Amino acid sequence: MAYDPDNIFAKILRGEIPCKKVFEGDHVLAFHDIEPQAPTHLLVVPKGQYVSMDDFTANASNAEIVALFRAVGDLARQAGVAETGYRIIANGGPHARQDVPHLHIHILGGRDLGRMLPPAP
Ligand code: 5GP
Repeated sequence: MAYDPDNIFAKILRGEIPCKKVFEGDHVLAFHDIEPQAPTHLLVVPKGQYVSMDDFTANASNAEIVALFRAVGDLARQAGVAETGYRIIANGGPHARQDVPHLHIHILGGRDLGRMLPPAP
């Protein structure tokens, strides 16, 4: 899928839409999800234009990849969920119901998150 520069996270990265920022580095921005599904619900995004995890890992530099994953771990600790537990999710494509076509890693925690997936419909 081609990258759409008008997606909502591209607009946040350009500063055209506000966000509740929790971290910014050279390659990464992290902010609170606008509709949190748990007491902690952060979104960690690369600043580069990548649609999905497979796009990112195929095309991003090592520095970008390291920065994204280091930020995820650091933010889990900073948010206070590393001890009690947390889940990271990166939805990609239609079967995963990805809504925003800019790679993002959800960090969810602060409550029992239940099983990984609901029963199949
Ligand atoms: P996806 O389904 O693509 O994995 O998740 C997209 C996430 O982006 C959803 O959890 C949704 O609440 C969040 N989201 C959508 N629009 C905005 C926005 O404008 N600001 C923020 N902070 N989060 C958003």
